[in-house]
Amino acid sequence: MKNSRQIFAPIWFLVFALFSGCDAGIIPDCSDPSSFNYSPDAAGSIICYDMRGCLGYQPGLAYSGSVGNTFNDPGFDRMFNEETALQSAFFQDIPANVLVLYEPSEAYANCYATYSGDILFGYHYYQKTRRNYGLLPLAGTLSHEFGHLVQYDGKWNDYEAPFFRELEADAFSGLYMALYKAIDWQHIQTYYANVYDSGDFLYNDPTHHGTPEERLAAARLGVEVAVAIMQEGAALTYDELHEVFLDKIMNTIAPRSTHLTEYPDIAYPTLSTAQRRTLFPHK
Ligand SMILES: [Zn+2]
Repeated sequence: MKNSRQIFAPIWFLVFALFSGCDAGIIPDCSDPSSFNYSPDAAGSIICYDMRGCLGYQPGLAYSGSVGNTFNDPGFDRMFNEETALQSAFFQDIPANVLVLYEPSEAYANCYATYSGDILFGYHYYQKTRRNYGLLPLAGTLSHEFGHLVQYDGKWNDYEAPFFRELEADAFSGLYMALYKAIDWQHIQTYYANVYDSGDFLYNDPTHHGTPEERLAAARLGVEVAVAIMQEGAALTYDELHEVFLDKIMNTIAPRSTHLTEYPDIAYPTLSTAQRRTLFPHK
């Protein structure tokens, strides 16, 4: 008859193996530096949580950074909060929780929208973009992330390619910039050309976001739809906007991905802020 030590030895081995397996599951590592679970010591990629693009944020991993609510710049904090309030008013009926993400370093500068309704706006993204391009692109990026929250809220899943989702977020950004802020097209075009063609940000990866030409075309689409809304004097629902945006992206913008276009300036109808408010998108 086996003694108790012999009986339990396989069990202890099993317990040890299970815990070892759990450790590997809790702290996966990946050899791709553009991953939230990057580890320089990773033997090979097991599961990689890709941080290129602005979706798919994963908390709690080695390169996830941490979340807070200040850019450590009171003047900018105030401006950012005011801009967030404007965008929350524009994207009405869309719950948004806007936070600051402290990325591990400037090399990981990015912004993310999460399915749970968070916008994580990168601290390093803010610093880098403001230093190189000024304040306008920061509002532009925030409205792009709001566009993703609209998509999540609508539970839209009819995108034939992942970057169609990104181009639609650019269209929502263009819509906001024209319909609420009345930013002239030349300024929008300039910051799109500068920021999204720079190629030095994780969020610029064309496989995730489309080419710079497609992104500019998508922003232009949002501006043109804003002008049509102002001319008609009738607001559109989010579902109606989705239908218009996705149709144009699939049939007009994406098939001409290498087509460089110089868009002419576009005049906005003269409307008061109160009149603009009646034209904001709604459910
Ligand atoms: Zn995006």
